[in-house]
Amino acid sequence: MRRCDAIVIGGGLVGTAIGYGLARAGLSVALIDEGDIAYRASRGNFGLVWVQSKGLGAPHYQRWTRASAKEWPALAAELEENTAVALGLEQRGGLQLCLSDDELDKRRAMMAQMQREAGNFGFDYKILDHAELKAMLPGLGPAVVGGSWTQYDGHANSLALFHALHQAFRAKGGRYIAKATVTEALAAPQDFRIAAGGETLVAPKIVLAAGLGNAALAPVFGLSAPVRPQRGQILVTERTAKAWPIPLGSIRQTPEGSILLGSSEEEVGFDTGQSPDIMQKIARRAVATFPWLAELQIVRAWAALRVMPPDGLPIYDESRRFPGAFTANCHSGVTLAGAHANLFAPMVARGALDPQLAPFSAARFDVPAAR
Ligand SMILES: Cc1cc2nc3c(=O)[nH]c(=O)nc-3n(C[C@H](O)[C@H](O)[C@H](O)COP(=O)(O)OP(=O)(O)OC[C@H]3O[C@@H](n4cnc5c(N)ncnc54)[C@H](O)[C@@H]3O)c2cc1C
Repeated sequence: MRRCDAIVIGGGLVGTAIGYGLARAGLSVALIDEGDIAYRASRGNFGLVWVQSKGLGAPHYQRWTRASAKEWPALAAELEENTAVALGLEQRGGLQLCLSDDELDKRRAMMAQMQREAGNFGFDYKILDHAELKAMLPGLGPAVVGGSWTQYDGHANSLALFHALHQAFRAKGGRYIAKATVTEALAAPQDFRIAAGGETLVAPKIVLAAGLGNAALAPVFGLSAPVRPQRGQILVTERTAKAWPIPLGSIRQTPEGSILLGSSEEEVGFDTGQSPDIMQKIARRAVATFPWLAELQIVRAWAALRVMPPDGLPIYDESRRFPGAFTANCHSGVTLAGAHANLFAPMVARGALDPQLAPFSAARFDVPAAR
């Protein structure tokens, strides 16, 4: 039997960010992960640190996302200093481009609503027309009618983030237990026991951050995490000269020169395959946006599964039945890494989630069925 201060289940971006935050706070932490048979969300994402479309109709999510983006520079600097892994963070704003008047009208309405809902917290944005965008984005196609800009957006090398979080977690004394699938546990208030890696781990705190695995795990701990898979496909071009100063929502260029084109939102269950029709759709939209992209070769493509809550907002909870058990689920684990490491983990370390996270409880899904 091995005692520790906290157990985290799930070694993806969410679990590792929280595990790192806990270890940095001085807790002894065991991070249990089933291994490389996951659905690749943490390895197959797009790498945006994105704010401008997050939290329409849910101002608490808009604020949480903004707070996370604000934490990103400190987290990146700290990880880079401690691990020598370059995260490639750029936060100079971002653009979302629209290819029809209808798209632009919807975007305009959405941004206005986000600003209204932000209230005194503020939400600065601009709607730009074709001519203004063309001045910023050489080679812009005539199909682009306009777009939205905010200063809050950015992007990073999310694989480097993942690697750095794991490295920094271990450097802070965290134990990473790989190839261990948790299917059962003994749970009592502030007393959790899990068999993993040939031993029994015992801790007064546990965090369920197993991505899509949380749906089955949560009830064991008196929690609920009704997440579903949502597939996204991404294409990557050969490297080319720097094309744009900032990321463009579904098109972004890495510092090395590759251009990432993404990403679909498909309801296909646990199917991680790629499909030519979706790949064509992604490529066509990219070429309509920048016709010169047609000259570039696609060198890689993949699909991965998002961890999607029913209403698209994160689920954060603390078990009433078994105090000390927490869960974290979201579909924007890159963007929210700053919040998970720097805000959520300290709450778990203190033993209670802040009231600002109350609207993220899965209790919001417990509405009686309409008669
Ligand atoms: C195509 C695509 C594009 C995306 N683009 C962006 C983006 O631009 N910006 C952004 O912010 N986010 C993006 N995301 C989302 C982001 O990648 C995810 O939110 C994040 O990776 C989720 O991390 P996670 O740790 O919750 O889940 P996962 O990465 O799935 O990790 C969960 C881990 O838990 C382990 N596990 C599961 N069950 C168990 C169990 N029973 N016992 C032990 N271990 C278990 C798994 O093996 C896995 O390693 C994108 C996702 C996709 C798919």
